[in-house]
Amino acid sequence: MDPGFRRSDGWVGGSRPSIALTAQSGLGTVAVMHETILSPMQLALAEAEAAAARGEVPVGAVVVSATGVVLAAAGNRTEADHDPSAHAEMLALRAAARRLGSPRLTGCDLYVTLEPCAMCAQAISFARIRRLYFGARDPKGGGVEHGARVFAQPTCHHRPEVYGGMEEGKAAEMLRSFFKDRR
Ligand SMILES: [Zn+2]
Repeated sequence: MDPGFRRSDGWVGGSRPSIALTAQSGLGTVAVMHETILSPMQLALAEAEAAAARGEVPVGAVVVSATGVVLAAAGNRTEADHDPSAHAEMLALRAAARRLGSPRLTGCDLYVTLEPCAMCAQAISFARIRRLYFGARDPKGGGVEHGARVFAQPTCHHRPEVYGGMEEGKAAEMLRSFFKDRR
């Protein structure tokens, strides 16, 4: 088990209150993990795994508040919701915004298992996410380090700090095995 990590503001990955709050979000299909302690990226990976089990592309996302509380966790639901915009990031951003009662998630961080597409990157900018942590890089569909490179455009008015490649191996392996099983 990854021991989690400590950020400069003192937040320690995977506190118990985070898990409890996630269970209340009603969005995540991840069962309450009893005493298991997960970092936000591990929680996002668990959401991705749950998405794969539902037949969705395995991507998971988690929004964490400035004080380290998990506000929302979600996995892809494009098939289940018949919604091309129901990417994990979109669902997590919407749920977190509803929870805070504001379209702006100032100071919040987003963790996602895969490099966001251009749509999600733009929504991340609109939401004023402080830091974006993503797992696997996505040369085919990504919009952060590839393709549209949304945050690098002059039309982008809020750029989060971006940290790519977190738990990259696990996130990429999950996607590989999902698409292999479908062929
Ligand atoms: Zn997306």
